Amino acid sequence: KTFSELKLIAPLERALKDQNYEIPTPIQAQTIPHALEGKDILGCAQTGTGKTAAFALPLLDFLGGEKRIAQPGRPQALVLAPTRELAIQIGDSMRVYGKHLKLRTVLVFGGVNQNSQVREMQRGAHILVATPGRLLDLMEQGHINLGELEVFILDEADRMLDMGFLPDLKRIIAKLPDDRQSMFFSATMPPKIVDLANQLLFNPISVNV
Ligand code: AMP
Repeated sequence: KTFSELKLIAPLERALKDQNYEIPTPIQAQTIPHALEGKDILGCAQTGTGKTAAFALPLLDFLGGEKRIAQPGRPQALVLAPTRELAIQIGDSMRVYGKHLKLRTVLVFGGVNQNSQVREMQRGAHILVATPGRLLDLMEQGHINLGELEVFILDEADRMLDMGFLPDLKRIIAKLPDDRQSMFFSATMPPKIVDLANQLLFNPISVNV
C-alpha cells in the first residue's frame, strides 16, 4: 500500500512527497482510513512507529479540506501531550505535513512565560498543541475556549497519567464539546487507561502495532 491509495488531499500528498514518504507505517495504514471517515481511534503504539503522522494527516486532511477562519482563542483541534518536548515535536510535524496548507498551529506549554503563547492564540489557531497544566491555566484565565473544538487527540496517555495529569485531564475533558472526533494513543493499556479511553471515545476503532 502506498500513501496515494489513502486519497489524502493534494497539499498533503505533496508534503509527503517532499519528505520522501512513500509507504505508510503499520499504525498509519491501520489508522488513517478510519480517521478520515471521522471515526474515533484507540491506538496502542510506541514512539518511532509513525504515530504522529497517523493522527496528524487525517486531522490536516479534515481541517485543510475547506477554507476555515482561525478564531482568536478558539481552536478547532486540540492535541494534548504530556511534555513540552513532545508538544514541540508534534508542532513541528504539523508544520512539516501542513506546509502547503494555510492552517495555524499554536503551541502552549508550561515552564516559560505565557505572554507570547497568549498573543499567538489571540492571532487565531486552527490547531492547538498543548500540555495539560498550561492549557488549563489559559482556559481559566479566559484566553482559550474549547467550545469550537471538532477534533481531540490525546498522545502518550499512559505517560500523562504517570505524570499525575489525570485530574487536569478530567477538567479539560469536561469542557470538550460532545460532538467531536477523538483519537487516543498510548504505548500501554493498563485498566486506568482503558477507563479513560472509554470515557472519551465513541465506538472507537482499535489499532495495535
Ligand atoms: P513518530 O513515531 O511519529 O515519532 O515517527 C517516527 C519517525 O518516523 C519520524 O522521524 C517520522 O518523520 C518518520 N516517519 C513517519 N512516518 C513515516 C513514513 N510513512 N515513511 C517514512 N518515515 C516516516
